[in-house]
Amino acid sequence: MVQRLEKADVVTVGVGWTGGIIAAELTKAGYKVVGLERGAEQKTEDFLQTKDELRFDSRYDLLQNLSNETITFRNTSDMTALPMREYGAFHLGTGLGGAGVHWSGVTWRFLPYDFEIRSQTIEKYGEEKIDTDMSLQDWGITYEELEPYYDRFEKTAGISGEENPYGGFRSDDYPTPPMKTTPALRLFKNATEEMGYQPFMAPSANLSEQYTNPDGKTIYQCQFCSFCSRYGCDFGAKSDPINTVIPTAQETGNFELHTYANVTEIIHEDGVATGVRFVDLTTGMEYEQPADVVVLTSFVLNNVRLLLQSELGQPYDPESQTGIIGKNYCYQVEFDGQGFFEEKYNMHMGAGALGMAIDDFNGDNFDHSELDFLHGGWISLRQNGRTPISSNAVPAGTPSFGREFKEQSIYNFYRMLSVGTQGASLPNVNNYLDLDPTYTDELGNPLLRMTFDFHEQDRNLRAFLAERMEEILTQMGASDISVDKELGSFDVEPYQSTHNTGGVIMGDDPETSAVNNYLQMWDHDNVFVVGASAFAHNSGYNPTGTVGALAYRAAEGIENYLSNGGGQLVQGEKSKKHV
Ligand SMILES: Cc1cc2nc3c(=O)[nH]c(=O)nc-3n(C[C@H](O)[C@H](O)[C@H](O)COP(=O)(O)OP(=O)(O)OC[C@H]3O[C@@H](n4cnc5c(N)ncnc54)[C@H](O)[C@@H]3O)c2cc1C
Ligand code: SF4
Repeated sequence: MVQRLEKADVVTVGVGWTGGIIAAELTKAGYKVVGLERGAEQKTEDFLQTKDELRFDSRYDLLQNLSNETITFRNTSDMTALPMREYGAFHLGTGLGGAGVHWSGVTWRFLPYDFEIRSQTIEKYGEEKIDTDMSLQDWGITYEELEPYYDRFEKTAGISGEENPYGGFRSDDYPTPPMKTTPALRLFKNATEEMGYQPFMAPSANLSEQYTNPDGKTIYQCQFCSFCSRYGCDFGAKSDPINTVIPTAQETGNFELHTYANVTEIIHEDGVATGVRFVDLTTGMEYEQPADVVVLTSFVLNNVRLLLQSELGQPYDPESQTGIIGKNYCYQVEFDGQGFFEEKYNMHMGAGALGMAIDDFNGDNFDHSELDFLHGGWISLRQNGRTPISSNAVPAGTPSFGREFKEQSIYNFYRMLSVGTQGASLPNVNNYLDLDPTYTDELGNPLLRMTFDFHEQDRNLRAFLAERMEEILTQMGASDISVDKELGSFDVEPYQSTHNTGGVIMGDDPETSAVNNYLQMWDHDNVFVVGASAFAHNSGYNPTGTVGALAYRAAEGIENYLSNGGGQLVQGEKSKKHV
């Protein structure tokens, strides 16, 4: 027997950064918002004295339990997908605040080029520069249109940063100054300057100084404790949804939160959603939460899964290349190179987003005329802190156990520096998400199936970025440099990044996109799908700055929808800006 709850103005499925922003903005505007979060409630105090590497970094205490729910994976559509039973390539958040609680905090804006990538590529290099199996599209919004929302997210989170010399127009400075530099960061800065590049401090949600945001929420100064990525911050110094947007929503009195509420279906009829169905994971009871507006804020993978499971939108079919839900799933080409030094660098202290960056090889910041790939990646030296279990860098050729390993590991603890990159991931018609025909979650619902592999674009990009990284390490004075230029097939085992994107992409044409530039579904006016699922491709940066900006824009769209009596917020155009 399904119990029907009182109707809300808005229901969000998931309460991380995106669900929190939607809840904060709409409750402040006087709307009743219900947030359904499948995980537990958590708060900053829960993380006091919990710098436990085994618990959080090795055993993934804050992540989604893969024995309850996971994804299945295969490289190509002629393979049988199998469930991912152990964490590897990406780490899925759960609980109040989502992955925003244990993120690192590097908070970029994408380049103006990203939003008009197809048009600009054709204009500059001709259409033949785009591979025929690369489903590259403009996003249906320009950087200039999104800029005010980037500014809002940065002010909510208090981002500490220094202007990117290649970045788009900024209406204001970062709200707090850049993080401190360290000897290792200065080494990278000097080397890259000598090479003619333009280094600057990466934008960080680990704050350089105490800051109170426009909603009155205070975020404290980072202590460089090193237990940052995959950990909650007990100092309240990492901007996250539980110290910013969620308490903002709660203080209005208009926000009702249900934890352990696992949403299984969007209920809809004749193009209108009437609410969602969820299971209370503590009792097994089923509930229906009616609402005027349904907002999916359940991260990329579950945004796609819930739409497919609920039969909203047209599923993507790679054979005919028709349909849209699941299309343009992208990832990233992320890797590090190591160099060993005579001098010691104290890398004990660090923070998730502490880093010196160059953007000279990102986007179209450099000429691609003679290159066999598009886009690029930011290159950096990050000082995230060395923790006791996972920090064991040794030069190539060292045995992986025994006396020599121990000696090398101890000797090199302070002498290894790594330079890393996050290369863009451009869509390929053969990479997509759909429902698995075999495997189900603990509630009996089909798992999401991921079909993804790297292609020539990714391999050529990696080789190019690896050469630049090798040159930088050489200029820094490293010996025993190892930067792997080869990229094999995508493998779910080694950690790469939780920068999964696409599947419910935005655009200005209902035939080639699922949502408009307010992230409102073209074919269901009262369903908004918020998150990196809207990215038409993935850029060479971390995604959450853009996710946050889009969430603020979606909140504005929902408010317009509710106050104007519904309807489409954007008139769809037959666009030339797609494949
Ligand atoms: C280790 C790590 C480090 C990262 N570092 C960075 C970084 O430095 N910079 C950056 O830009 N990004 C980073 N990210 C990515 C960043 O965390 C995400 O982009 C961001 O959290 C996305 O916010 P979201 O609200 O879309 O999703 P999430 O934070 O994943 O929140 C979604 C919420 O929905 C809930 N949910 C899912 N399905 C259901 C359902 N069916 N019913 C109810 N609730 C549901 C989940 O439990 C979760 O709480 C990192 C991620 C990880 C894991
Ligand atoms: S490094 Fe800074 S922001 Fe990260 S957990 Fe430690 S104190 Fe918090």
